Amino acid sequence: MAKLKSILTLLAFAHLAVSIPRDYGTTTASNRTLIGCLDAANVPLISASDADYAPAVMPFNLRLPFFPVAVVVPTTAEHISSAIKCANTFKTKVAARSGGHSYAAYGLGGADGSLMIDMKMFRHLSVDPDTYVATVGAGLRLGDVASGIYRLAKRGLPHGTCPGVGISGHALHGGFGFTSRMWGTTLDNIVEMEVVLANGDIVTVSKRTDPDLFWALRGAGSSFGIVTTFKFTTYPEPNSGVRFSWSWTLDDSASDTVEKKVKIFQALQDFSEESAPDTLVFGVFMMAGFLDLSGVYWGSRAEFDRVIAPLVASLPQDGLPTPQIADYTYIDLLVVLANGEQLPQPENYTKHDTFFTKSIVAPTKLTSESLTSFFTFISEKGVRPPLSWFVIADLYGGRNSKISSQDPADSSYGIRDSFFTFQLYSNLDGADPSVTYPPWGIEYMNEMSRSITEPQPETKFGAYVNYVDPSLSPKEAHELYYGPNYQRLKELKRRYDPELLLWNPQAIGTS
Ligand SMILES: Cc1cc2nc3c(=O)[nH]c(=O)nc-3n(C[C@H](O)[C@H](O)[C@H](O)COP(=O)(O)OP(=O)(O)OC[C@H]3O[C@@H](n4cnc5c(N)ncnc54)[C@H](O)[C@@H]3O)c2cc1C
Repeated sequence: MAKLKSILTLLAFAHLAVSIPRDYGTTTASNRTLIGCLDAANVPLISASDADYAPAVMPFNLRLPFFPVAVVVPTTAEHISSAIKCANTFKTKVAARSGGHSYAAYGLGGADGSLMIDMKMFRHLSVDPDTYVATVGAGLRLGDVASGIYRLAKRGLPHGTCPGVGISGHALHGGFGFTSRMWGTTLDNIVEMEVVLANGDIVTVSKRTDPDLFWALRGAGSSFGIVTTFKFTTYPEPNSGVRFSWSWTLDDSASDTVEKKVKIFQALQDFSEESAPDTLVFGVFMMAGFLDLSGVYWGSRAEFDRVIAPLVASLPQDGLPTPQIADYTYIDLLVVLANGEQLPQPENYTKHDTFFTKSIVAPTKLTSESLTSFFTFISEKGVRPPLSWFVIADLYGGRNSKISSQDPADSSYGIRDSFFTFQLYSNLDGADPSVTYPPWGIEYMNEMSRSITEPQPETKFGAYVNYVDPSLSPKEAHELYYGPNYQRLKELKRRYDPELLLWNPQAIGTS
């Protein structure tokens, strides 16, 4: 997670030529067309024939360009309501985009021809001086939210490390970061939302006002409404944070490398299951020839040394690297975790990557068969240019984690039992810019994923909906993301959006 940005290919969008496949209509005042209806309702709009259209529909993941019928840029909930009513009349699917970081470009609809609602003008943020509840506009990005809450109240909210990720997609579908074992996911800290529903109604939703909708939105938000404003619980900033990392450079062709990696991972699993306090969060970052254990301890250096000692003692001592360890203030550490990127984000965001990602949610320890199979895959097939890849295994669970100790019935978020969550990320990092993502890359990453899951058939693995995997069928996706919660989600979708207006290829109700 923390290393993610450093290996992304960040291209200025100006380098990319978008070819718009077809004209979806012109801006006329006639309400016989969708565009005419939106115009008549005075909804701020970019249509396919406008010069602003190409930059407005540029996806973060350049592998998946999609072309909405038009882009609505609302400044009020009423604009969204009017847009939704027009979309209902003209039977057009609707998707909201906040930070645009969906791995499958679902903010653009995940297919051509949807009506995209770009939330970028919803940028308000305040913190109540008595309750410390933060009110956050749905168009803000994580860096804006973190720096804003800190500036106003010296407090924090749990969330991911990349400052450019949007608060809305992140919070509505989970939201994991370096304070999550201590404070829960971003989703766990939502107390209220203003939402525009699929019939155009504007409602305020909390556990008290509508427990069913509140449950559904927190886990499957994109299928149940368009959120304009969140209210979040916040926490006093931790006094200090210790950033640590042990990095092994390993020769994948050596006969003992697989065994050594298995031993390292097993030591981490054993320690995490019983002994890791909630103030400790770490991930294991893996590439061909490289394994890095790094994380954060929220406390003093002396406490960290005491807490980590049993783990260090259980790691293979032969070739144990010298660790990098440094203390920071809370807010400085957020910048370090973002690889030095400033937290406040520009209104016009221009970073991109070309990638395909899978995730595996492991509810239990990986067996030695599974670990051996995965590390053997890396040793034998780990280098496949022009693809670069990495895998991060993040510790979500363990006895003391606030993620796994939440009541599983509290929200529709389906992977409460995650012990480690794996992200398998492949991209064109460093490749010639004219190279496109190779079609075999998707099967290659699927094979890497199966190298972990197939040797452990007794375990029911899941997947993380915030790491959307568009290679899954809707049925596979729903089973992996939501497990037993899917049936209730489907029933609630029939109640709140029977026509599947709020749609993407894996929306609730598509299986
Ligand atoms: C570089 C990078 C780093 C990441 N790091 C982390 C991390 O550290 N931890 C982690 O947990 N995840 C991480 N993620 C995954 C990230 O949390 C998801 O991709 C998230 O859904 C992105 O939200 P967004 O608003 O930016 O995306 P968008 O593409 O705008 O939206 C994602 C989904 O949410 C829906 N949506 C957006 N806004 C609204 C709204 N207002 N109301 C209703 N639905 C809405 C969209 O329709 C879409 O289905 C990372 C992703 C990237 C690309």
